[in-house]
Amino acid sequence: MTIILFSLLFFGVIFFSYKKYHRIYFNIKLGKDYSNPNPTSEKLKNMALIALGQKKMFSRPISAIFHFFIYVAFVFTQLELLEILLDGFTGSHRMIGHALLDYCPAIYSTLINLIEILSLLALIATFIFLSRRNLLKLPRLNMDELKGWPMKDANIILIGEILLVFGIFLMNSAESAWLINSNGTGYHFILSSVFALLFTSFSADALQMLSQLGWWLHLIGIFGFILYLPYSKHLHILLAFPNAYLTNPNAKGQINYMPEIYNEIKSMMGEAVEASDPNAIPKFGARDITDLSQKNLLDAYACTECGRCTSACPANQTGKKLSPRKIMMDTRDRMEEVGRLMEVNNNEWKDDGKSLLHNYISVEELRGCTTCNACVEECPVNISPLDIIVQLRRNLIMEESNSPQEWNGMFGNIENNGAPWKFAQSERANWVNS
Ligand code: SF4
Ligand code: SF4
Repeated sequence: MTIILFSLLFFGVIFFSYKKYHRIYFNIKLGKDYSNPNPTSEKLKNMALIALGQKKMFSRPISAIFHFFIYVAFVFTQLELLEILLDGFTGSHRMIGHALLDYCPAIYSTLINLIEILSLLALIATFIFLSRRNLLKLPRLNMDELKGWPMKDANIILIGEILLVFGIFLMNSAESAWLINSNGTGYHFILSSVFALLFTSFSADALQMLSQLGWWLHLIGIFGFILYLPYSKHLHILLAFPNAYLTNPNAKGQINYMPEIYNEIKSMMGEAVEASDPNAIPKFGARDITDLSQKNLLDAYACTECGRCTSACPANQTGKKLSPRKIMMDTRDRMEEVGRLMEVNNNEWKDDGKSLLHNYISVEELRGCTTCNACVEECPVNISPLDIIVQLRRNLIMEESNSPQEWNGMFGNIENNGAPWKFAQSERANWVNS
């Protein structure tokens, strides 16, 4: 019965989650092609430091340590998950443990003890994260853009983590209590043996039932997590890896030039330019997600919504409407909207009269940016909200001529005098004679 039920659940989860994960891949591919020019060794190093090593998290050590507990516990718990999956498919119990029992029982006990200690630390960290979000109301975790679903999403995952840890401890403690009651030999799980004291008055049948309940609770928690992940900001636990791999670490603060303008200037200076399609109408900057690069779109899915970028943003600090975190959240929301529309239209795009620019991100937000790069520097997963802001702003100015009145004089001067000032180039050095 366990094997049948487990197999139904397992393949059901694979079936239903595949569709959503595939849609996310499809949505990212809506962007323009992107390639990271760095050698593979650089890219792997970047991925190891940023995604695996969480290097940038440690600029804020206290929250980094608690986050690290959750992260390491998550990684090590996968070993126990592997055993749970094997047990589910074979109908056995502690398959790996029994295999190691005759050979070297200490290995298995040490491993599970390590998982239990990490799980306890993760549990403490989870309660701290829940309190700072809901009780202490940390400003960067309670901004307007987090109201509604984003706040619920963060809480759902934290509560889910508590249930997962509870499932592990329930299973191990009930089993330890059974061992204590029956003076049996087996594994010695230090923490579970302490919790087991709560259950020693239970009958052997009740303990077996509790142990199985813990097993199912943990399993259903994991399956639920896999199904829920693509709808959550926690997708970053998967996408932070390709994102870090594709980030160009040598381009801190570098604003990419626009090939259309670059070629125009080259031809004005009499330099050869690459032949382009004469009928193609150049498009300046980005108006919607299909104008952004695939890396920009991957960034949006990899965003953890931590708000470190927003708390470092001088525009936000001085009361402007701009929040770089919201830029990433808006990009993701628009991408999801376009993906859903295409899904119902057999993957064909039908204009819905909306765009990322204006319908999601306002002119006021875009004009607030000083291009200081602080958000990029601060982001723990190497996301660049600035890159999206610059592309939208280019579209605003160059396609819509939508700039503040005060800037128009400057643009005219650059066009006429080659400088932002209203003097001709020939008059520039006049101050020397004054
Ligand atoms: S680059 Fe723009 S969005 Fe980023 S921190 Fe600076 S002002 Fe804020
Ligand atoms: S862009 Fe980076 S710093 Fe900003 S909220 Fe997302 S993950 Fe955090």
